[in-house]
Amino acid sequence: MSEITPRVRFAPSPTGYLHVGGARTALFNWLYARHFGGTLILRIEDTDFERSSEAMVEGILEGMRWLGLNWDEGPFFQSQRLDLYRATAEKLLASGHAYHCFCTKEELEQRRAEATAAGRPPMYDRRCRRIAPSDAAARKAAGEPAALRFAVPEGGSTSFDDAVFGKVEFANSEIEDFVLLRSDGIPTYHLSVVADDVDMRLTHIIRGADHLSNTPKQVLQYRALGAPLPVFAHVPLILGPDKTRLSKRHGATSVIAYKDMGIVPEAFRNFLSLLGWTPGSAYKDREIFSSEELIQLFGLDGISKSNAVFDNDKLAWFNTEY
Ligand code: GLU
Repeated sequence: MSEITPRVRFAPSPTGYLHVGGARTALFNWLYARHFGGTLILRIEDTDFERSSEAMVEGILEGMRWLGLNWDEGPFFQSQRLDLYRATAEKLLASGHAYHCFCTKEELEQRRAEATAAGRPPMYDRRCRRIAPSDAAARKAAGEPAALRFAVPEGGSTSFDDAVFGKVEFANSEIEDFVLLRSDGIPTYHLSVVADDVDMRLTHIIRGADHLSNTPKQVLQYRALGAPLPVFAHVPLILGPDKTRLSKRHGATSVIAYKDMGIVPEAFRNFLSLLGWTPGSAYKDREIFSSEELIQLFGLDGISKSNAVFDNDKLAWFNTEY
C-alpha cells in the first residue's frame, strides 16, 4: 500500500490528436490512480497558442472516453492559469533563483552559432546573470523586453530517483539556464508544468521517457520553491516493429483511427497496458486481462526500462479475443 493516496495527472498538449503513446501514458496514470483509490487529474497544456486547438482538445477527450479513461478533476486548461505561472516566476525571481535576460533572439542565435563553430555546446552563456538585480529591475521597469531565466547552480549535479530508471543524475554544467517566462510574458513548459504539479499537489508524475532530460530542470525548480518532490516514473518509448520510434510509417498512430477501424476499446486498452508493463512472473503466459484485473495488478514496479514495440498484428489478435 502506498502511504499517501496518489494524485496523478495526464497532461496532453492539444497540438495533435491523442496518439498511441499519449493514450498509454493516460492509461498508466488511470490504472495507478484506480489501483490506489487515488485521483486522476486531466490538464490540457495549451500554452502554445499557435499550435493548440479546440478541435484537438475535443479529439483527446473523445479518445479518452472511448478508452474508458475517466478522470476525477479537470479538465484544467493552462491557458486559464497564467496568473499562477507568473506568480511562481515572481517567487523564483525574488528568491534569487531566476534573473532577467535582455539578450535578443538575434544575439542568442549568433552566440549559439559561434559556440557551435568553436566546438562548445550551444547553451546560453549566462551573460545576463552578471547584471545586478537592481539594474535589471530598472531596465525591465523602463520597458526593455526581457525573458526570465532560471539560474542553474554553477557546479555539482542534479539527481532524482526515478521509479523506473533508478537514480538519474545530470551535471549542472550541462543544464542550460532555461527560460521560465518568455519576453512576451508567456510561460514555458518548464515553468507551467512545475507550477501546476506543485499547485495540484501531485504525488506521482508518470510520463514518457522522452521527458527524462526535462526532469532535472523541474527538480531544480521544486527545490528552489521548497516544494516536496513527487515520485517520477518515466515509461519507456513505444517503437514500431522495425525498432524505430513509432510514427505514421508504421500505420495509424491516432487512437481515434483505431476506434474508426472497429477495434474494441477493451482490446485496445489491454494491448496498450502491456506496452512497457508486465504484471509479474505469475502471469507470464497470460496476455488477456479484464480491466478489473489490470487495476488490481498494476504498479510502477512492473514498468520496464526497455522500449516497447507496437505491433498491429498483435493488436489484431487482441481484437479477436474480445
Ligand atoms: N504536455 C506534455 C506532453 O504532451 C506532457 C508534460 C508532462 O507530462 O510533464 O508531452
